[in-house]
Amino acid sequence: MSTLLQVKDLKVAYGGIHAVKGINLEVKEGELVALIGANGAGKTTTLKTLMGMVKPAGGEILFEGQSTAKLAAHDYVKQGLVMVPEGRGIFSRLTVEENLLMGAYSRSDKAEILHDMERVYHLFPRLKERYKQLAGTLSGGEQQMVAIGRAMLSRPKLLLLDEPSMGLAPIIVQKIFEIIKMIAAEGVTMLLVEQNAKLALQTADRGYVMESGKVTFSDKAAALLANEKVQQAYLGE
Ligand code: ATP
Repeated sequence: MSTLLQVKDLKVAYGGIHAVKGINLEVKEGELVALIGANGAGKTTTLKTLMGMVKPAGGEILFEGQSTAKLAAHDYVKQGLVMVPEGRGIFSRLTVEENLLMGAYSRSDKAEILHDMERVYHLFPRLKERYKQLAGTLSGGEQQMVAIGRAMLSRPKLLLLDEPSMGLAPIIVQKIFEIIKMIAAEGVTMLLVEQNAKLALQTADRGYVMESGKVTFSDKAAALLANEKVQQAYLGE
């Protein structure tokens, strides 16, 4: 497996607050990697920095071996780096279908776009039933489905998911994670930030634990689930 993303000694500061203090992580092609940790550990900041939304104070981000430092905002999606943000960021006055098509705005391959729409509707039959509904009137779980579906329409090489379980009932969270597994099984590489550490590690291949801006553990997901310190601090055991 080749390395898709490599983060070296990444540092991020907001004024005097050092949110990320020199972390290293990597994601290989085909992997599903979880980034877990308590509130304020620096997980969201890490994802935002990977997407160029926050400028690092130090370190390096390599995507497919190339530094992302000079990429313009609109280049990220074209390069295949796509994020599903916390809070989802869907367009509430557009229909489900219009939202999904937004994900394909930089593509011109109409037949392939239609094919990808069908693929999303296959993953989310509920969205197919509701394709004409205004996205703002969907349930929280359905909106999360739209956000993931829209990201799929941009054919990501690396999909960054920020807290997909946020604000959702446990049964819906299960459903979303089943879909994340299906997307992974299709070969989409993902980096998943999650508060629900147990579910994230049960779903992922590997994981990183962040604490106060540093990576404190990194291992295969199964090994992290079995690690007593991780269990005590993050898994409620
Ligand atoms: P959560 O799970 O609560 O979202 P997190 O691990 O994603 O937590 P971050 O949101 O990355 O953590 O926050 C890391 C630290 O950086 C926190 O101390 C936070 O208060 C601070 N921080 C985040 N965004 C900003 C900002 N725009 N300005 C100043 N400080 C910020």
